[in-house]
Amino acid sequence: MPNNDILVSGGGIAGPVLAYWLSRAGFAVTIVERAPAPRPGGQTVDLRGAGRTVVARMGLLDQARAIAVEQRGIAAVDKKGRITARLPADSFGGEGIVSEIEILRGDLARLFYEASLPHTEYVFDDTVTALEQDDDGVNVTFEKSAPRRFSLVVGADGLHSAVRALAFGPHARHIHPLGLYISWFTAHDELDLGGWYQMYNAPGGLTVSARPGRLPGEVKVSFGFRSGPIAYDRRDVAAQKAIIAGRFAGAGWETPRLLSAMAGASDFFLESVGQVRLDRWSRGRVVLLGDAGYCPTPLTGLGTSLALVGAYVLAGELATTGDHRVALRNYDRIMRPYVGEAQKLPPGGVNGFAPSTALAIRMRAASMRAMTRWPMRNLIASQFAKASSIDLPDYDLPALR
Ligand SMILES: Cc1cc2nc3c(=O)[nH]c(=O)nc-3n(C[C@H](O)[C@H](O)[C@H](O)COP(=O)(O)OP(=O)(O)OC[C@H]3O[C@@H](n4cnc5c(N)ncnc54)[C@H](O)[C@@H]3O)c2cc1C
Repeated sequence: MPNNDILVSGGGIAGPVLAYWLSRAGFAVTIVERAPAPRPGGQTVDLRGAGRTVVARMGLLDQARAIAVEQRGIAAVDKKGRITARLPADSFGGEGIVSEIEILRGDLARLFYEASLPHTEYVFDDTVTALEQDDDGVNVTFEKSAPRRFSLVVGADGLHSAVRALAFGPHARHIHPLGLYISWFTAHDELDLGGWYQMYNAPGGLTVSARPGRLPGEVKVSFGFRSGPIAYDRRDVAAQKAIIAGRFAGAGWETPRLLSAMAGASDFFLESVGQVRLDRWSRGRVVLLGDAGYCPTPLTGLGTSLALVGAYVLAGELATTGDHRVALRNYDRIMRPYVGEAQKLPPGGVNGFAPSTALAIRMRAASMRAMTRWPMRNLIASQFAKASSIDLPDYDLPALR
């Protein structure tokens, strides 16, 4: 490309990883992130299959292992806190529902941010408001910064991507909601979870989960509920917390304690769960990456691996083809089958995650118990292996100095 400047919207997981690889290829990368600083928060995300390979090629696998959280596995509990089913971490050889390396999302985002930082220009607290492309580049307008011109713009700005909305059309055209909302936050609480990721379901499609954080006294909490579309202000955190408090009032287990911890949480995040599907991920000099282009939903456990692999392939193709049109076509061709597999929801789909009735909750616990035994155990391990494998090109980009 004649001009080497690339703008990446979104400094979550995909954006910094792309910036790291593009810098290795000699591109000048600017990341614009709407948050005022790298965003902490989230529960654990899995590093598996090809995603793990990308981290290894970045030379960060040892550091990733060092920040991984200890886990005994997932345990379903009833309203009195009694364990009704367990999926121990080693049940699927590290490649199943619980992967070998589970890292708190905020820790992983920080690792990639730091790896990209020396060679990337970060602009926080800003967002793209208009894109105007011609044959040679894209003129970009920002909410706060002065307009600039780039050779390519990458939307790595998550499920509600601003770049996607500007270049590909309204969210409703591309986001396919699952009828589920999930919130995440960190609680400072001494709740004893015995090292398990504990998951409680209540009738009405309510799920509450809590897992030990990496630091003592830290608990990573999630509340999920099934619902048709609800209108809320994405910037009004107090209103979002009120939605959760209202939905979960009176639910059993440790819910009252976790709800009161939610009031003081600074990293609270509420998201409507939806898959992003588009026939093509680029339009001229604008391209989508990670959740912005192909969010599979947290139910699949594959969103982070998709983002990592997508970033590596996009950078590799831009670096080795020398023509953005060819590179973007190749990116689509290489990623499309991998994304297709990863977007298949696990058995039971939303019902498996948030069963609606007491009977369905008991059946889910029974099916969890069956999952650890042959033949279900082998079937699940092979499904995950299939969904997380891709014939990953080796771009052999020069090391950073
Ligand atoms: C706070 C948070 C917590 C999460 N927790 C979990 C979890 O517990 N489990 C799970 O499976 N997945 C979680 N996810 C989603 C998970 O990170 C992604 O599915 C996956 O890692 C793909 O990463 P991504 O970089 O494409 O998207 P994301 O990680 O969502 O990153 C997108 C980034 O773009 C930024 N952004 C959004 N809009 C704009 C804009 N207009 N301009 C500039 N920047 C913008 C966001 O602030 C964010 O930093 C979470 C995401 C976030 C943001």
